[in-house]
Amino acid sequence: MSVTQQQVLDSLARIKSPRGVALTNANVLSPISASDGKVFFSINVDAAEARAWESIRVEAEATVRAIPGVTTVMVALTAERKPGSAPPPPTPSRGTPGVQPVHAHKPPQGGGSPMSRQSEIPGVAAVIAVASGKGGVGKSTTALNLALGLRDHGLKVGLLDADIYGPSMPRLTGLRDKPELNNERKMIPLRRFGLAIMSIGFLVEEETAMIWRGPMVMSAVTQMLRDVEWGQLDVLVVDMPPGTGDAQLTLAQNVPLKGAVIVSTPQDLSLIDARRGLAMFRKVNVPVLGIVENMSYFQCPHCGTRSDIFGHGGAQHEAEKLGVPFLGEIPLHMAIRATSDAGTPVVDSEPDGPYAAIYRAIAGQVRDQLKGVIAAA
Ligand code: ADP
Repeated sequence: MSVTQQQVLDSLARIKSPRGVALTNANVLSPISASDGKVFFSINVDAAEARAWESIRVEAEATVRAIPGVTTVMVALTAERKPGSAPPPPTPSRGTPGVQPVHAHKPPQGGGSPMSRQSEIPGVAAVIAVASGKGGVGKSTTALNLALGLRDHGLKVGLLDADIYGPSMPRLTGLRDKPELNNERKMIPLRRFGLAIMSIGFLVEEETAMIWRGPMVMSAVTQMLRDVEWGQLDVLVVDMPPGTGDAQLTLAQNVPLKGAVIVSTPQDLSLIDARRGLAMFRKVNVPVLGIVENMSYFQCPHCGTRSDIFGHGGAQHEAEKLGVPFLGEIPLHMAIRATSDAGTPVVDSEPDGPYAAIYRAIAGQVRDQLKGVIAAA
């Protein structure tokens, strides 16, 4: 039985909001996404009101869950600070999942570490981002194969597909199941290749995910970070949405990142985008672990000959200039595209091949940089 937006709205109309009117008339609801029994929406209020609305969020979630045919509900409370208003209360570390003040456009002030405002994910030693200045450079392919490379180095690894505009983990992993809920109503990540994997693409159709608005990006990612039973992980790799806009900046600032890997192609344009990515992470005091050059050179699938069709060494040169590690170059090769798009990533499906070795070498450098953090945890 499929649930309609109207059914959801009808049930929400019965909830009285702190503004004295029905929730549906309080002018706080985002568009409702309802497909296949999965319902998502957000309640958008001012940061100063956020605490008063948390119980409404919980009530809304329970009410919608009670509609016959609903299998998954995610209601996010997003709080935006009005310019000039007092800072919102500190983000609660536990107990109120779904409340995540959004500090869009506001990098941390003063010398304090942004970590102080970002509670850690229990059980997860290090969260790292894989980012790119623009789409289509192979960021998701790199994120998954990097995660597998880290696995091959003996680490317990999770992968969060935070690219809610275009989640690609269902395609790259072949996973199509819907995450189950545990007794605490936390989502249990799907498992494949020895990784714990979570993607908004497991919950909504791709087209639905594309229409999510700015503040919802943060709240959806927050819920996938915090309302998921990740278990004990050494590293959680977050596949970021491409680009360096407000949504990405807010994520970089609010997710407790221990570092970021930037994926770039060798073309100059993409390097400019990569530089923007670098600047974004520096702005929010997240260490850049290094740059990966993807589609670095063309390797002929027939004769194995290497052609530097975009020139060579651009990213390495750029990394040196910017003072960040150059983690390695990955060729443009049929095997990487084919395995990626077939849901059988090359590090897992061809573990003894040359590409797996390249990804593992990159993962080794990332692991080395995170050693201290992982050991401390
Ligand atoms: P992004 O996440 O940056 O949008 P994807 O990882 O989805 O990019 O990759 C875009 C396309 O490029 C996919 O079809 C993928 O299989 C392909 N691709 C990525 N990296 C490589 C590579 N090194 N060689 C060949 N194809 C690649």
